[in-house]
Amino acid sequence: MKMELKSIVLPGVDPKRPIVITGPCSAESEEQVMAAARSIASKDIKIFRAGIWKPRTKPGGFEGVGTIGLKWLKRVKDETGMYVATEVATRDHVFEALKAGIDILWIGARTTVNPFAVQEIADALKGVDIPVLIKNPVNPDLELWIGAIERIYGAGIQRIGAIHRGFSSYDKKIYRNLPLWHIPIELRRRLPQLSIFCDPSHIGGKRELIAPLSQQAMDLSFDGLIIESHCNPDAALSDSEQQITPDVLDYVLNLLVIRDVTQTTENLSELRRQIDQIDEQLLELLAKRMRISREIGVYKKEHNMPVLQSPRYNEILENRSSMAESMELSPDFVKEILREIHEESVRQQMEIMTNKLVD
Ligand code: PEP
Ligand code: MN
Repeated sequence: MKMELKSIVLPGVDPKRPIVITGPCSAESEEQVMAAARSIASKDIKIFRAGIWKPRTKPGGFEGVGTIGLKWLKRVKDETGMYVATEVATRDHVFEALKAGIDILWIGARTTVNPFAVQEIADALKGVDIPVLIKNPVNPDLELWIGAIERIYGAGIQRIGAIHRGFSSYDKKIYRNLPLWHIPIELRRRLPQLSIFCDPSHIGGKRELIAPLSQQAMDLSFDGLIIESHCNPDAALSDSEQQITPDVLDYVLNLLVIRDVTQTTENLSELRRQIDQIDEQLLELLAKRMRISREIGVYKKEHNMPVLQSPRYNEILENRSSMAESMELSPDFVKEILREIHEESVRQQMEIMTNKLVD
C-alpha cells in the first residue's frame, strides 16, 4: 500500500532528536500521576505517557485503573501544558480516550499482533485526526507491523509513528525483549517518512540498560524515545524494575550523544567506492561458488547420491569458523553467513535432483 504519512510532531514540541515521551508505565493514583507529571514538565519535556488499561500476562495483577485515570491525564494537560499519550487496545478504549481529550494514542505490542484488534481500533478512529504510535508486534514479523500501520492509515490517520520495543524471546539473559535492530532499520527503508521511536524500558526491562539502549537508538537515527519514569520506581505497580525517576531520566537524556544526520557524506565517498567494489567481488565469488555447487549437484544426481552430506557441512562450519577467527571476524557471524550459503546450495541441488535445472 502506498502511504502518505505526515509528521507526528505536535505544535510546541521541538522536532530535534530525540522527541521524548515519558511518564509511568501505569497511572496508579491521581497523586502519583500529578507528581510524575510536574517533575517531568520541569525538565522541559512535552509529552507525558501513562497506561490506563494494562495488558498483563496473567490475570490478577494490576490491570490499570481504567477510565477514571483519564481524568488525571486531563489534569496533567491542564496544569502542565504537556500533551498526553495512552495505550488503546479496543474500540471502547479509543472512544473513551478521545472523549477525554488524549492527544496521542499508542497500540501495544500484544495488540499489534492481532489484525482483528487493530482493525477494530482503526474502525473506531475513522474520521478522527490524531497521532497514533504503533509498537512492534511481540514476534519479529515486519509484515505484521507494516500491516497494522496500513490498517490505521486505511482509517484516514496520516500522523503515524512506530515504536521498537523489542521482541519476545525465551532468552532473557540480558534483555526482556530482544532488540532486533535490523527490523526497525528495514521498516525505515520501506517507509522513510515514518517517525520511529525506541522504547528502551521494555527492551531492557532494567534501569541500567536505558542509557545504552537510548544511545544505540540515537546512533541508528531513531526520531524519538519513549521511556518509563516514576517518582518512586521501586513502589510502581507495574514494570517497577525498568522505571527510572524523572531526575535520572533527565541525566540520561543529557548524556546522549546526538550525531548529526544532516551532515554530508562526501568525505566517505572513497571508502564507499571501495565497499562497492568489494561487494561486487563478493557477489561474483558467490555466483561462482553456486555454479560449482550445481556441478556437484549434477554429479550427485548421476551417481545417485543424497544432496545432504552432514559430515561435509560440519567440516565446512568448523574449518571456516577457525579461519574466521584468525582473520579477526566473529565466528558466529561467519557461521550465520555459511549457513545461509549452504541452505541456498542445498536448494539449488534439490532443484537439480527434481530436474528443473538440467536439460
Ligand atoms: C507499555 O508501554 O507500558 C506497554 C505495555 O508496552 P508493550 O506493549 O510494549 O509491552
Ligand atoms: Mn510498561
